[in-house]
Amino acid sequence: MNLDDLPIRADLRGKSPYGAPQIDVPVRLNTNENPYPPSPELVADLAEEIRRSAGDLNRYPDMDAGDLRADLAAYLGHGLAAEQVWAANGSNEVIQQILQAFGGHGRTALGFEPSYSMHPIITTGTNTEWIKATREEDFSLDPGKAVAAIGEHRPDIVFLASPNNPTGTAQPLATVEAILDAAPGMVVVDEAYTEFARQGTPSALTLLPRHPRLIVTRTMSKAFAMAGTRLGYLAAHPAVVEALLLVRLPYHLSTLTQTAARVALRHRAELLGTVDALRQERDDTVRWLRDKGLTVADSDANFVLFGRFPDRRAVWEGLLARGVLIREVGPPQWLRVSIGTGEEMAAFRAALEGIL
Ligand SMILES: *Cc1c(COP(=O)(O)O)cnc(C)c1O
Repeated sequence: MNLDDLPIRADLRGKSPYGAPQIDVPVRLNTNENPYPPSPELVADLAEEIRRSAGDLNRYPDMDAGDLRADLAAYLGHGLAAEQVWAANGSNEVIQQILQAFGGHGRTALGFEPSYSMHPIITTGTNTEWIKATREEDFSLDPGKAVAAIGEHRPDIVFLASPNNPTGTAQPLATVEAILDAAPGMVVVDEAYTEFARQGTPSALTLLPRHPRLIVTRTMSKAFAMAGTRLGYLAAHPAVVEALLLVRLPYHLSTLTQTAARVALRHRAELLGTVDALRQERDDTVRWLRDKGLTVADSDANFVLFGRFPDRRAVWEGLLARGVLIREVGPPQWLRVSIGTGEEMAAFRAALEGIL
């Protein structure tokens, strides 16, 4: 028997699952993780806290994750309180809950492509219709066109990743506000990479007091160097959080996850301490690629989109053959490299020079 023989939903037939290849090579620069592992001190503190909470593992976790949400609110600042924060197993689960509460059959979600591939995947997975709007040639958004697309389609949800994946493009707050003013429903600003943004790129969190239908999503998977923990979160009006309580599974966030995330927040100085170095490495990478005559998108994230290669697959395979795994993603002819350590980026440069 194979998949086609099963009585699977018609709209899932022929689809491919999300899949960044997990290949064991010396230099992995393909999923935008922070390359720096936690220190022995952090690991020891984490082990001790997990040991302590393990004594209660016969009990369900705090289903509202109250302590964690209070810690996250304090970390975010902007006067936010625990009632305005929600957390789940990665921001992908947060996004799924948003779609379960505000999308669904007969409803639509709109995004500006090229953008994060999980937005349409989760949208269609929750029986919501995906509407594809577009970006400019340089991957920025023209606010007038964005507002026009929203006016034409009247989507229930608008997704805006800023900084955007896979292009690295951040949007000015004026564009976010224009979208908020035009959108009839919820607006999700996905700030997975916001910690890497260049100076003077404000967070959409500053817009929350004036815009009750705004949701800002964040993650510990990128700058926070905790991708393995699976912890994503959002900030929004308390009523939005109440809506998400209607669709979340009971006890979705395990005791171990809540504990690990709280320890990570306590060690945020260490975890976020690598962000400056990664930004520097990113800017150096952009400069180096441009010096090689390549086209490179401006990046406010921990990755760089570069091209253009008539046969990008050949370049991707050439790098892989040299032990460097990057990502074949985004518009045709472009490739994305995540920013690793100085050593890893030197290996990337050497491998790419061997191909060019
Ligand atoms: C990586 C990424 C996420 C994070 O996903 P998690 O489930 O939190 O690991 C969310 N949005 C964008 C745009 C991303 O690139």
